[in-house]
Amino acid sequence: MPLVPAPSDVLTSKLAGFGTTIFAEMSELAVATGAINLGQGFPDTDGPSEVLEAAVQAIRGGVNQYPPGPGTLELRQAIADHQRRYYGIELDPVSEIVVTAGATEALAGALLGMLDVGDEAIVFEPMYDSYQACIALAGAQAVPVLLAPGDDGTYGFDPDELRSAVSPRTKLILLNTPHNPTGKVFTRDELVLIAEVAQEHDLIVVTDEVYEHLVFDDRAHIPISTLSGMSERTLTISSGGKTFHTTGWKIGWMSGPEPLVTAAKTAKQFLTYVNGAPFQPAMAVGLGLPDSYFINLAANLQLARDRLVTGLDAAGFTTYSPEATYFATVDIRSVDPAGDGFAFCRSLPERCGVVAVPNEVFYARPEHGRHLVRFAFCKQLSVIDAAAQRLAEGFAS
Ligand code: PMP
Ligand code: GLN
Repeated sequence: MPLVPAPSDVLTSKLAGFGTTIFAEMSELAVATGAINLGQGFPDTDGPSEVLEAAVQAIRGGVNQYPPGPGTLELRQAIADHQRRYYGIELDPVSEIVVTAGATEALAGALLGMLDVGDEAIVFEPMYDSYQACIALAGAQAVPVLLAPGDDGTYGFDPDELRSAVSPRTKLILLNTPHNPTGKVFTRDELVLIAEVAQEHDLIVVTDEVYEHLVFDDRAHIPISTLSGMSERTLTISSGGKTFHTTGWKIGWMSGPEPLVTAAKTAKQFLTYVNGAPFQPAMAVGLGLPDSYFINLAANLQLARDRLVTGLDAAGFTTYSPEATYFATVDIRSVDPAGDGFAFCRSLPERCGVVAVPNEVFYARPEHGRHLVRFAFCKQLSVIDAAAQRLAEGFAS
């Protein structure tokens, strides 16, 4: 027996196969090579000064000890007000909202708090990488339904695949709209179908809506909890990281009917207990900003989207223009016939001085995403232009 055991001998079998996250790997690669990082999604400019200033004031004003477990009442009230203002959703801030360490912890709380060993959770793939890990930690099984681009380049799913994904062990459907990494906004018709399946089989829906304000071209984000018969079976998750350019603050929240919130909160309280006291009043300020803030946020990102998509097209990729979020997916086979996204991303910094992430990591069945690569565009236009130029030069035929 060696003195220091190998990591694989120590890691729980539940996490076998889950290595270091792709975001950590690719951001490290960006730092090591000095490449432009369009991999991990984080903005390269600060958010609204009122929000930043409110956090500074809170720290200086002594808001530095444990806040209440479910979050400060001020922030929970601001979340309730936001849900009413944008979606007409009525929530009791005391019993129906809990603040978390980003959406990531809300997802972990929901999945660990609701899933039993052997349960199944239906997920749309590709999906944010923590979904599969948390389902595995719960000892449950992820059952994937494929989102694939149609002839018009818009991602959709086969209703029959969704229906046949349901089994007697299915406990919940995990939805993400607007969707990372495809940039898809689920349409009302698609949401109605998901709602029908959930109601027919008495399933819970956990919906991750962190990109709710990053929606382009006059599309509308529809929370599935607003559909008929859904408010009582939906746990809605969001966070402030994307909306206020504060991804490092890790303030998120979950909301919905008390039984669902309580189940998720029961797990959450043993994960982090409470979250960043001085960031909570600041997030409340952000959620209360006027509509113009949210409109400009989306408008500016839409410009960045257009700029990156134009650049990716010019470099020779087949690009799926996103309807929302801050990510664009490309099919690399037009510039790299081997179509191995992992190998492509690992060599991209040296080849072009740009970092991207392979979409393969977002799939339960990796073969569906092998040839796809994601670029983030939550960056200054000059950075996007520089990256686009490097890609064009790198792949000039
Ligand atoms: N869900 C999705 C779909 C995401 O892209 C992200 C981005 N990190 C998260 C959840 C996590 O959000 P947070 O940083 O608030 O934990
Ligand atoms: N949501 C961001 C992304 O998808 C960041 C994820 C992370 O660092 N865990 O890139």
